[in-house]
Amino acid sequence: MAEDLTPVADTVADVFPWQQPQLDKILQLLELNKLPHAMLLCGPGHLGKRLFAGAIASLLLCQAPAGGRACRECSGCLLFRAGSHPDLWVVKRELRENGKDYRKQLVVDQIRDLIHWATQTAQRSGYKVAIIHPAEAMNTQAANALLKCLEEPASNTILMLVTDKPARLLPTILSRCQRVEFSLPAPALALPWLAEQIPGGADPELMLNIAGGAPLAVVERVDDGFLERRETLYKGLMQLIDGQVPVWDLAALIVKQGSEEAMELMISLLEDVARCGAAGQGPVLNSDCLQVIELLSRRWSSHQLFGLHDRALQELRALRGTTNPNETLLMEAYLSAFVRKTN
Ligand SMILES: [Zn+2]
Repeated sequence: MAEDLTPVADTVADVFPWQQPQLDKILQLLELNKLPHAMLLCGPGHLGKRLFAGAIASLLLCQAPAGGRACRECSGCLLFRAGSHPDLWVVKRELRENGKDYRKQLVVDQIRDLIHWATQTAQRSGYKVAIIHPAEAMNTQAANALLKCLEEPASNTILMLVTDKPARLLPTILSRCQRVEFSLPAPALALPWLAEQIPGGADPELMLNIAGGAPLAVVERVDDGFLERRETLYKGLMQLIDGQVPVWDLAALIVKQGSEEAMELMISLLEDVARCGAAGQGPVLNSDCLQVIELLSRRWSSHQLFGLHDRALQELRALRGTTNPNETLLMEAYLSAFVRKTN
């Protein structure tokens, strides 16, 4: 079991600066002894909801919490950090037998194991805490099994469901959980934190914009070479427009870098062109690409622009779907339309 706990248990028992209101709410309920048995931590992705659940778990399992924080020194904290606290249970996507990728669904056996654990008395004094993430990955059987557990909650057991997509959960589950909502943080909260996390050369404001306002998405992207891939793509598009690179060369490069991400980036660029175009309103998100955005807004009619945007959304759905399209052909066709409309 210890291995299963690692992702949550490894985290520092602090919350992110933009999660203070949610923490305050939970501390208040805790003080009043009114902490709900089941909470739904929901909101956009990449805000650290799972880590928040981990922080709350560590706080509840700590024997000497102070100031809304786990002490990090008691035996409860040590067990938590080692991923072996007997009163913490985490349900998450499990590795397949091949050891490489994860199962898409949370299955009924995982929920049955959770229920079995929940019926036992706490091994150490105090709370028992369970975390299910991502909760929307529960299949129907698993969700129905969980429902029973929600109808008859075990005493002193706190269940946290973490999800970016609450609409995918059964209404009967939703109605039995108290919602703890997370929303995109104000830049004033996110930017100082981000500035400390990303390397000096990167512009936190630009990065936050292109990540749609989710700070942890920025950190993940900086780590995995996203900025370099983005620059290669946008440079490639400029060269394509100027006729310096043929469609198939750029398509091959894009497929190598990742078609889905490239399509998302092109959609973001097209939306900036729309912002910059006829209406001429609103600041663009990709503020470092103003040159190409302005160029495209001069060359395209809004009809052409919306046509390319619609098609990009359609291609993105195809890339994300289960039909496994030929990425090279798809990208060549899209870039051909892109450049045809440009010349
Ligand atoms: Zn402690």
